Amino acid sequence: MKIQHLRNATTLITFGKHCLLVDPMFSDPGAIPGFKLFGGGRRANPLVPLPEETDSSLTHVTDVLITHEHPDHIDIPAIKWIKDHGIPVWASSIDTPNLCKKLPNVQEVRDGAFGARIEIIPAQHGRGMLGWFMGPVSGFYLAHPDEPSLYITSDAVLTDDLLSSVDRLHPDIIIAPAGAANIGAGSDILFSVEELVTLIKSTSGEVILNHLEAIDHCPTTRDELNQRMDAEGLGARVHIPKDGEQMHFDRPATSPYTPPEEKASASRLPGFQKWLTAKFAMT
Ligand SMILES: [Zn+2]
Repeated sequence: MKIQHLRNATTLITFGKHCLLVDPMFSDPGAIPGFKLFGGGRRANPLVPLPEETDSSLTHVTDVLITHEHPDHIDIPAIKWIKDHGIPVWASSIDTPNLCKKLPNVQEVRDGAFGARIEIIPAQHGRGMLGWFMGPVSGFYLAHPDEPSLYITSDAVLTDDLLSSVDRLHPDIIIAPAGAANIGAGSDILFSVEELVTLIKSTSGEVILNHLEAIDHCPTTRDELNQRMDAEGLGARVHIPKDGEQMHFDRPATSPYTPPEEKASASRLPGFQKWLTAKFAMT
């Protein structure tokens, strides 16, 4: 499996015959309003351009996977690019109805897609009212028979449910957001650094951290994180890629997919998120 980190959450995952483009944000620097709503430090996003090699890397894309419809995960230039290239888009049932209004070929992710065992793992993008305000997010576990298993947590805070999914699934690779994002009021809306340490210690697999130095409301830097991971003795299995960096993972002797005993409820309501997304990203 080859994983290329492009910027923020935008990632290319090459496995089997597929090259999945996850959560594309293609906007030029400064094209999206800042996300830091209170307390100063608001700047237009993204803060940095896409890496130079983006165009050549994108020529391999076979499918797009969207974890949720926030503007740092799908934006107007990405929608145009997907349409221009006729690439199929995959998302959970939370996001497919709205994505269908903007894109011609949208499909609901289901177990067996891409020749892989797939499980959607609901993520909580904040706590309390803030979590409700941010709306539902879908993490994805993906286990292709020839590849290491992968868990994309997407935008999440640490919960018991998330930790028990890691404990059950034993993913070989986890991709998690590390910016410790906050909107300037209330608690963090992504894993804090402390929560990341707990998450990483809960797995024996490798962990790739993203959401770094690309968006105004993510204050954590790569240097800080590298130092902390080294101090915790976790540096050897934590990847903090630069934009454009490629990582290669061989298939280890993994544990087989273990489905949940009870199917998670599918009745997660989109709430305020759709309105907010339309306001920020899609107008
Ligand atoms: Zn995000």
